[in-house]
Amino acid sequence: MTTIVVVGSLNMDLVVHAPRHPLPGETLIGSHFQTFPGGKGANQAVAAARLGARVCMIGRVGIDTFGDTLLAAVQYDGVDTSFVQRDLNTATGVALITLDAHGQNTIVVAPGANMQVSEADVIRAESVLRRADVLLMPLECPLEAVVAATHLARQSGVRVVLNPAPARPLPTELLAQIDYLLPNQLELQVLADGETDLLTAIRRVQQQGVRNILVTLGEEGALLAMGDQTTHVPAFQVPVVDTVAAGDAFAAAFCVALAEGKSPLEAVRWGNAAGALAVTRSGAQPSLPSRFEVMRLLEVRGE
Ligand code: ADP
Repeated sequence: MTTIVVVGSLNMDLVVHAPRHPLPGETLIGSHFQTFPGGKGANQAVAAARLGARVCMIGRVGIDTFGDTLLAAVQYDGVDTSFVQRDLNTATGVALITLDAHGQNTIVVAPGANMQVSEADVIRAESVLRRADVLLMPLECPLEAVVAATHLARQSGVRVVLNPAPARPLPTELLAQIDYLLPNQLELQVLADGETDLLTAIRRVQQQGVRNILVTLGEEGALLAMGDQTTHVPAFQVPVVDTVAAGDAFAAAFCVALAEGKSPLEAVRWGNAAGALAVTRSGAQPSLPSRFEVMRLLEVRGE
C-alpha cells in the first residue's frame, strides 16, 4: 500500500445556494444552507484515502464542535489524524461558500487554527513523512510548515506535489524543490505575475525553478508541462452539479497514481477522472469519488 502525507487545512464549509453571486453591498435571498467538512488539506487527504492510499494528515483544528466534526469526518475515511493537533487558542477554520445556479462558487476562508500549523508540527511527524511515497500540500497553512515538510521529504526521496491554492508568491528555493506544481489557471496566472497566456505563464514559472507544472483547466482537462514538453489531456464530459473540490479530487488522484508507479500522463488521466466525478455531485468531501468509480470511468471512457 502506498502512503501519502498531506500537510494542509481542515475547514468547515458553510454553503449557501443562491440564484447568482451578490454584488458588493447587495443582499440576495438564497434557497438553502448546508454544512460540509472541507478544507483543501482534508479534502485531498480524504480523496487520496478513498482512492486506496494510506493517508496521514498534518494540520490543526480548534477545540470546538467544528473541530470534532472535521476530525471524525476524515477518520471515517481512514485518514490517520495522529498529527492533527487541537489548537487551544484558535477556532477551527471555516469557509463561507456561495454556489450559484450554474454550479460556480465563490469562497471566503477564515483560516483559524490552520494558520497555527508550524515547523514543529511537521517535525513531530518526521518519521511518517520520510517513509511516504508522495507529499501533497495545498497552501492554506503557513509557508514555514510547507517549507519544512518539503525539506524533509526531499532529503528522503519523497516526491513533493504542491497545489498552490490559494496562490501567493513563493520563494524560488521552495519552487526548486517541488517535483510537480499543480495550479489551476488563475493560480498559475498569479505565480506568473499576471501573465494570461497559458504557455508563456508556464515558462515563466518554470524559470523560477520548477521543472514540472500541471495546470488544471476545468472542463478543458489539464496541461502537463515537463521541461520543454507540454501535453494536453482532455477532461471527461460530465453533467456539472457543483465544482467544489474538483481540484482537490484531481490533486489526490494524480498523487495516488504517481505513488503507485503510474506514468505522469496516466496520473493526469486519473486526476481528470476523479475531478470529473467530483463535479457531478454536491459538496466537498461527499463528492469525492472512490477508487472503484475512478477505475470504472477510466475503463468505460478511456482510450
Ligand atoms: P479548481 O477546482 O482547483 O479550480 P479546476 O476547475 O481546474 O480546478 O478542476 C480540476 C479538475 O477537475 C480539472 O482539471 C478536470 O479534470 C476536472 N473538472 C473540473 N471541471 C470539470 C467539468 N466541468 N467537466 C469535467 N471535468 C472537470
